[in-house]
Amino acid sequence: IDWNIDKGWYNPRVVPYGPLSLDPATSVLHYAQEIFEGMKAYRSTDNVVRLFRPEANAARFNQSAARMAMAQLPEDLFVEAVNQLVRIDRGWIPTGEGQSLYLRPFMFANGVYLGVKPSSDYLFMVIASPVGSYFSGKAVNVWVSENYTRAAPGGTGAAKCGGNYAAGLLAQAEASEHECDQVLFLDAVERKWVEEMGGMNIFFVRDDKTIVTPPLGTILPGITRNAVMTMAREQGYTVVEEPLAIDQIYADAASGRITEAFACGTAAVITPIGAFRHAAGTCRIGLDGSNGPVTGALRDGLVNVQRGTAPDTHGWVHTID
Ligand code: PMP
Repeated sequence: IDWNIDKGWYNPRVVPYGPLSLDPATSVLHYAQEIFEGMKAYRSTDNVVRLFRPEANAARFNQSAARMAMAQLPEDLFVEAVNQLVRIDRGWIPTGEGQSLYLRPFMFANGVYLGVKPSSDYLFMVIASPVGSYFSGKAVNVWVSENYTRAAPGGTGAAKCGGNYAAGLLAQAEASEHECDQVLFLDAVERKWVEEMGGMNIFFVRDDKTIVTPPLGTILPGITRNAVMTMAREQGYTVVEEPLAIDQIYADAASGRITEAFACGTAAVITPIGAFRHAAGTCRIGLDGSNGPVTGALRDGLVNVQRGTAPDTHGWVHTID
């Protein structure tokens, strides 16, 4: 679907997957005015296709658009575009354990000019690809980035824009060099507060009954994060959003006060964290870094709702016929 400052949204269309032709002066190539979402469609063996909270993705998309000075997309148009593509591709959605159709709605500035100003033209698209399970059952190791930050107060950390990920690529490469699967970013000001991972939010289990996570502000407001908080409260845990200093995390893990840590997001769903590595050493979580009981229970609860094997008491799941 195209947007122009005079016409608004126009020309919705479904076209075969293929390259785009862009003028070399297309604004996004120079000033990175671009936002996206990540979603998954699950197909069960009875052939029902389910999306998890698509209206939450639509709302976050518009929050990102507002921060990036881009056009607002009516939420029903966002959801309808996603539904249309899922209907077309439904036969390609694998039904195996953890498998799904990954959906990537995105929008970029396609005005043609050089000059630092918001574009008068945007293109919104959705592409899709079948994906396997991200979760191997094994805990991931996380590299704590002390050299690079992802987001500063007043910046774009809470928006899902490509520039945030570009800024984190070097830190992700550093994580790989240290044989870690993911990077953990600290805050940009004091360089000690835990923020989030490269593509996931982070949680800790403290004193066996409290689930803690960093507050919103400079991090992405994860839809999985929100669902985890809701479900954990329902399972009887106390859920706390509070600033978490990385040195305190190391100390609490060493003393056994923190017994589990996990990452969550659309791609990874809920993935246990086995250890944090940093320049000065390694901090192991729990006994052997395996899937702890709280992480496992939350993961099962979420996966069962997403796949339609547990009741959807929150109206989170949209079925597509
Ligand atoms: N933080 C970042 C930086 C992410 O890229 C993602 C993935 N979208 C998340 C957190 C988790 O968000 P969600 O649960 O909405 O997928």
